[in-house]
Amino acid sequence: MVAKLIDGKAIAAEVRQAVKARIDERRRKNLRLPGLAVVLVGQDPASEIYVRNKVMACEEAGVISHSYTLSDDTTEAQLLDLIDKLNGDSTIDGILVQFPLPEHINADMVTEHILPDKDVDGFHACNIGRLAQRRPSLRPCTPHGIITLLEHVEETFYGREAVVVGASNIVGRPMNLELLLAGCTVTTCHRFTHHLEEHVARADILVVAVGKPGVVKGEWVKPGATVIDVGINRLENGRLVGDIEFDAACQRAAWITPVPGGVGPMTVATLLQNTLYATEELHS
Ligand code: NAD
Repeated sequence: MVAKLIDGKAIAAEVRQAVKARIDERRRKNLRLPGLAVVLVGQDPASEIYVRNKVMACEEAGVISHSYTLSDDTTEAQLLDLIDKLNGDSTIDGILVQFPLPEHINADMVTEHILPDKDVDGFHACNIGRLAQRRPSLRPCTPHGIITLLEHVEETFYGREAVVVGASNIVGRPMNLELLLAGCTVTTCHRFTHHLEEHVARADILVVAVGKPGVVKGEWVKPGATVIDVGINRLENGRLVGDIEFDAACQRAAWITPVPGGVGPMTVATLLQNTLYATEELHS
């Protein structure tokens, strides 16, 4: 078998176009346009690129973006003050604080300070709790974007064996909850999991979010599986690769995401969807 590629760029473009169409309609009806505040603290070059991409995507879709670039020595209290101001601003539907934050700022404190109905990243304990209780509101962007990808290739989620490798708060854990909500039987593996290959070999749907190239061998993949590679790793030669041995996995999987061009574009597209959802469902 040679796997077919899941084209994240094309699917993300469809999602962005759908968001844009809804915003165009709001404009025609003279309704308020969605507003997103993007906060960057410090000068991490990768974060600067992510923020620039998010702001550009907002502009294309018609979301009004408000950028706040704060210096490295911004105190936690100053950042929380800014979030208070944005929480109280009725033109702002979503607040995104780009991570990582400088070490002197407690990232959990910042996440919990954003009002749950403006938490377009979906990281607030309240939003994760709602997802766990099967009444989701704002959902973490990367895992929900992966569900959108899977909906393009899976006929059903009910009863499928799904294995998630990685258990972080932003990808692995909410991915488990999303797949459970969709009706899969879900296993989550992490750094303490024994016999990783035995879990991987059972997966009809395999999602890997670890951040280590080659952590999942292609030969472990179940024939006919759908394989989602979330990892983004830059090799010494400058090439970007995922976490899964891509060429070997392609010989066994039915569907697979490329890196780049798979999951990455869906994260930004889902952020726009979340911002529109906050405007239409939570703030109108
Ligand atoms: P993280 O470091 O917070 O979590 C990594 C997880 O992998 C942990 O739960 C850890 O227990 C597990 N792990 C480590 N070694 C393992 C092993 N040998 N076997 C099994 N599990 C192991 O990372 P993260 O923030 O979840 O990100 C993971 C990867 O996904 C990174 O490469 C990151 O760049 C990428 N990422 C991509 C997007 C996107 O939009 N495409 C978004 C977020 C993260």
